[in-house]
Amino acid sequence: MKTDSPVDLRALLKDLKTLVDIESPSTDLAAISRVMNVVEGWARDLSAETRALPGGTREMNFGVQEGKKYILVLAHVDTVWPHRTLQGMPWREDGDRVYGPGTYDMKAGIVGLFHALRSFNKKWPEGGIRLMVTPDEEIGSPTSRGHIEQAAKGARAVLVVEPPVADSHHLKTGRKGTGQYIITFTGIASHAGNKPSEGASAITAAAEAVLALQGLARPDVGTTISVGKISGGTATNVVPAECSIDIDLRVSTMSEAERVDKAIHGWKPGDGRVKVSIKGGLNRPPFEQSPGTLALYEKAKVIAADLGFELGHEVVGGGSDGNFTAPIAPTLDGLGSPGDGAHASHEHVRLDRWPDHVQLLTRLIQEV
Ligand SMILES: [Zn+2]
Repeated sequence: MKTDSPVDLRALLKDLKTLVDIESPSTDLAAISRVMNVVEGWARDLSAETRALPGGTREMNFGVQEGKKYILVLAHVDTVWPHRTLQGMPWREDGDRVYGPGTYDMKAGIVGLFHALRSFNKKWPEGGIRLMVTPDEEIGSPTSRGHIEQAAKGARAVLVVEPPVADSHHLKTGRKGTGQYIITFTGIASHAGNKPSEGASAITAAAEAVLALQGLARPDVGTTISVGKISGGTATNVVPAECSIDIDLRVSTMSEAERVDKAIHGWKPGDGRVKVSIKGGLNRPPFEQSPGTLALYEKAKVIAADLGFELGHEVVGGGSDGNFTAPIAPTLDGLGSPGDGAHASHEHVRLDRWPDHVQLLTRLIQEV
């Protein structure tokens, strides 16, 4: 750990513990707003103008001026962890790591951001900074998506304080688009021994669909398809009338998303008596690596080199709210705290690397 760093690690940890102590699963809006209130308090201390938007998103403006392009920062306070996770997975500092639910993804990102903002002494960059703190990123951002897209329209750059890639600490310059489909098959029930031919098996149709639809994958261009859940049937001696499958789709380009969507909707079972109903679709569009994003990364890389560390970048499979802004404004993701174990019991932040990344974010905000 560098001793000459202007970032106070103890102060970062104190703020992080404050946020982690308030458990905030996506499904509990009251808990979410308790975390929001703390963050909004920090923003008010910096004289930010704040407002609550429908659905629970809070917008916080630091020196934003009418008619001028601002820097948009995206953060979410929800976590994948249910209440009382802290009992079995408590806050724990161990050497150069701090463990706990929601540390790495992404409460430390919010804390690092506020340490950056405080260091500006209320002297905001040209056009100001708009921070969107959202309540539902981990469940696909149903209420915040519209607010995020609207905010991106006035932004000259979007910085996402999700964590960098685990281990390598690389920034994220692209993310796959994500889709979910639920397909329900409705056949005809019949006695499996006495009248099998009168039945139309929903399970047979589902089995055909699993193989046919997974066959649409093209990993060479980033398209993966996985049926993650299947359920159906009532009893061993009944030809099943019901079955359903849940599909996870990842794509690197919009054209691939369209190809797969069309094929899913066009697919027909071998037995024409089985009815097929399809729900879902593309939830987050692909965050395609653009020249604007790479230019932001180049700036970050130069700053990192000046701070004394090497900074890489990569395209990752998981989505974030950066997927919504990337088609609208240059977006750079992974500007939160280094660590590992997102959505896993070993979730932690790397204390030896965190201050460097806070400094990186601070300088980047000043220079974009
Ligand atoms: Zn996250």
